[in-house]
Amino acid sequence: MLNMRNTTIALAGVIALLAWWHAPWYGYVLAVAGYTLPLAWGSYHIGSNFYIDVITKGPGGATGARAIALTFDDGPANQYTPEILDILKEKDAPAAFFCIGKNIPGRENLLRRIHDEGHLVGNHSYSHHFWFDLFSTRHMRADLRQMDAAVRAVTGLTPRLFRPPYGVTNPNLAKAIRKEGYTPIGWNVRSLDTVINDPVKLRKRIEKALRPGSIVLLHDTIDATLVMLPQLIDGARAAGYAITRLDKMCNIAPYA
Ligand SMILES: [Zn+2]
Repeated sequence: MLNMRNTTIALAGVIALLAWWHAPWYGYVLAVAGYTLPLAWGSYHIGSNFYIDVITKGPGGATGARAIALTFDDGPANQYTPEILDILKEKDAPAAFFCIGKNIPGRENLLRRIHDEGHLVGNHSYSHHFWFDLFSTRHMRADLRQMDAAVRAVTGLTPRLFRPPYGVTNPNLAKAIRKEGYTPIGWNVRSLDTVINDPVKLRKRIEKALRPGSIVLLHDTIDATLVMLPQLIDGARAAGYAITRLDKMCNIAPYA
């Protein structure tokens, strides 16, 4: 299995061989350069489980359940969280919202609405800072706890599911997740809704990728997502999928 530990063991093995062979200095440079490639790959592939085991799908077909879970990142947002909640309510479809803490002040009612209407609230960091991945473990832990406190102040519940900002994982974040006791959540259907602005193309891309147990990554800040959501839900149901809440599909505790 390609993960941080095995990659480091492999590097140690290669360096021992280079020493045995009395390899020139550039042999070591090449070995270390080669070592960084899987590390970078692991950072940017949330399903790689390179630094930490991340949940990226439900049990799926093996259990006979044809369920999928919709997840929305980066809210609560004035555009388009309320409209998305309206659609989910009309379609009686539960979802998970991985909210950004700094978006909550002034939008407490919106967060309360997400919770009251039966959706899950997850932690997507407080700052969603561009350089979040370069934070120290201590700084990350403080940021995540600040987000938990913002949710707790509104709903009385402390999120236990955490989705890394930008989907990036690294050793500091893995440590922060373990120390704070979060269950890290990824996805296996990346809608690319922040990039594809044609709602039909977006929906077709998602529909093609759906499998039993799929976790679909969407954003409640995107116009195309709002536009295609009703047809996405209807289409998935017509294809025999049940829209389930992430924690139920994966049988994990959503709150402390
Ligand atoms: Zn995000």
